[in-house]
Amino acid sequence: RLYNEVQDLKGNIRVYCRIRPFLPGQNRKQTTIEYIGENGELVVVNPSKQGKDSHRLFKFNKVFGPTATQEEVFLDTQPLIRSVLDGYNICIFAYGQTGSGKTYTMSGPDASCKEDWGVNYRALNDLFQISQKRRGSFSYEVGVQMVEIYNEQVRDLLSSDGSQKRLGIWTTAQPNGLSVPDASMHPVKSTTDVLDLMQIGLMNRAVGATALNERSSRSHSVLTVHVHGTDVATGATLRGNLHLVDLAGSERVDRSEATGERLREAQHINKSLSALGDVIFALAQKSSHVPYRNSKLTQVLQSSLGGQAKTLMFVQLNPDLDSYSETISTLKLAERVS
Ligand code: ADP
Ligand code: MG
Repeated sequence: RLYNEVQDLKGNIRVYCRIRPFLPGQNRKQTTIEYIGENGELVVVNPSKQGKDSHRLFKFNKVFGPTATQEEVFLDTQPLIRSVLDGYNICIFAYGQTGSGKTYTMSGPDASCKEDWGVNYRALNDLFQISQKRRGSFSYEVGVQMVEIYNEQVRDLLSSDGSQKRLGIWTTAQPNGLSVPDASMHPVKSTTDVLDLMQIGLMNRAVGATALNERSSRSHSVLTVHVHGTDVATGATLRGNLHLVDLAGSERVDRSEATGERLREAQHINKSLSALGDVIFALAQKSSHVPYRNSKLTQVLQSSLGGQAKTLMFVQLNPDLDSYSETISTLKLAERVS
């Protein structure tokens, strides 16, 4: 319902903000979040300023506070996810600085605990469960691809050959005229399939990386769920895809400190995140030119950004005072596209 209201105004883009709780050892009093409203309002305070200037109000489609559960977040995302079964293309991504909860929201902290599952697992599980039954006269097949984009290189995280293959082009034409990455496709028939695939993806993501966390905060991971529906009565088919994206950390790297590989990574991240911001901004403005070609990320996501596609951005925030300037720049970007 809400979605349709928003879609008329905002070209199919909605923004949810999620504030993660303080972690053990963080001082709860040192917060930048002053107020969270029922209707998506958020007041951020700069404690080093006085008076009116110290407070800023932001408004999004929804704000999830630190106590919001994975289930609550998913329930507000599920209708959008299910619309892939009607042939829509959907893009859901998490944006924010490293440590703000992007991976928590998209995947969750622990796959072995169902309560903790993030949007990825829940979405796949939900879609495959629906695909087991018939929906109206439609029957469905669900397939999954998973790629990582690191330094403008696309890597297949689910290929059997250790996934070292670099994917350059992804123009495998789909019957609906869309292109998908030239990455291996894996059918999903059970929850176990879902868990196994995600596990393989995670393991492959760590290949070659000194520390998984380090690497994963500097690369984008894109899980693509393809749904193929067949109307058993008429033989008509429909396709939709769902991109679930855990973006690289958006924090700005101090140019005076970063050198060599670190600087190169930072430049690639910066380039792709601004390209994504520009695409979404162009779509929000209903601009006739949408600059998809400026990064690998926007090329991979093209089918689910713009046109009839629906986009959901999770804006992730760390409530800590030290994060104030990153928090403000994250919120400003979100405000620009919402
Ligand atoms: P990012 O992927 O943005 O770098 P993470 O998802 O790894 O951040 O989150 C950083 C830390 O905060 C992790 O220890 C994670 O478990 C914890 N965390 C993030 N969001 C939540 C949340 N909503 N509830 C509880 N812990 C969270
Ligand atoms: Mg992460």
